[in-house]
Amino acid sequence: MSESHDHGARLTIDLGALQHNYRLLAARAAAAETAAVVKADAYGIGIAAAVPALIAAGCRTFYVAHLSEAAALRAVAPDVALYVLNGLPPGSASRYHDLKACPVLGCREELDEWREKGRGRPCAIHVDTGMNRLGFTPEAALTLDLSGLDVTTMLTHFVSSELPQDMFNALQYEAFEEMHRAFPSLAASMANSSAFFHDHAPFCQQYRAGYALYGGNPTPHLPNPMRPVVRLDAEIVQVRAVPKGETVGYNGRWTAPRDSVVAIVSTGYADGYPRNGANTDHKPGGSARVGGVTCPFAGNVSMDLIAVDVTFAPQELIGRGGTLALIDEVLTVDVVGQHAGTIGYEILTSLGRRYNRVYTGV
Ligand SMILES: *Cc1c(COP(=O)(O)O)cnc(C)c1O
Repeated sequence: MSESHDHGARLTIDLGALQHNYRLLAARAAAAETAAVVKADAYGIGIAAAVPALIAAGCRTFYVAHLSEAAALRAVAPDVALYVLNGLPPGSASRYHDLKACPVLGCREELDEWREKGRGRPCAIHVDTGMNRLGFTPEAALTLDLSGLDVTTMLTHFVSSELPQDMFNALQYEAFEEMHRAFPSLAASMANSSAFFHDHAPFCQQYRAGYALYGGNPTPHLPNPMRPVVRLDAEIVQVRAVPKGETVGYNGRWTAPRDSVVAIVSTGYADGYPRNGANTDHKPGGSARVGGVTCPFAGNVSMDLIAVDVTFAPQELIGRGGTLALIDEVLTVDVVGQHAGTIGYEILTSLGRRYNRVYTGV
């Protein structure tokens, strides 16, 4: 482990890779602007470190979900354009003014409240092209009264952008283009990470990049074009010999198929590692890596510990104070998500607060 044994695991966050990913996406967006989505503490990597790195890479517009996130961003970036996706909570206009933040408005009540309390400050509107989550319906959007408002941007969000052949994409492109034709002076903002890789000729002035910035694969059926940003190394607390036929961990879910060497590492579901990553006699699950060897978990993920079957790992690397990688260039956030029956987005945004967080690459 590094200098510190205080934390159980080290989370290494490569800000150089984050910047590389921003530049790669911005190049794909060509003439359109690439805004960064930094909600959920920059997808778990830390908004205070991520935002200055993204600004240095050329980013000038940021999206968060909540006002508390807008406040965290403003603490490190007083001047960039800042939009709050989850709209205008009743009575919150003055908070928006204090933070120099712009609400993304998605219903009539929000629009009216901002017209009255927004002091002419900029805002964006969200139109719905099929998600049925946030935003004005197509009918409402085509007849919107935007008088008395400084609307900069019209945005919508994809339903299945990671599946380029999905019918929904074409329908949404078409619906959004039609809505935007009614308000051609607004910047059209449509694409999330995966849509940077669509073939569709872009008519938008802005793209919104989230997951791919942080190293997630925006093209799940193709090799990942992005550079990994996070790496997780968990410290070995104990190594034990488990005789054939004995079980490991809560509820005895894993039975040693032969005399085995099991390493216990100091990370668990309290650190955001999903409990559903258990590897049991009945269900394959998560794994760790050491010395180039992938080693399956042995049983349940506990709150603070995970047992790993390291029988076939180079034994000189297996000992007290050594480490096993839980996220690395092979066990990517996408793979870890698959092993736990979820998606890499959830792995990233659940990254624990107990880790020794080390920022590199700047
Ligand atoms: C989260 C979010 C994004 C970013 O999506 P990614 O798939 O992470 O790139 C873009 N737009 C909206 C409205 C979002 O909620």
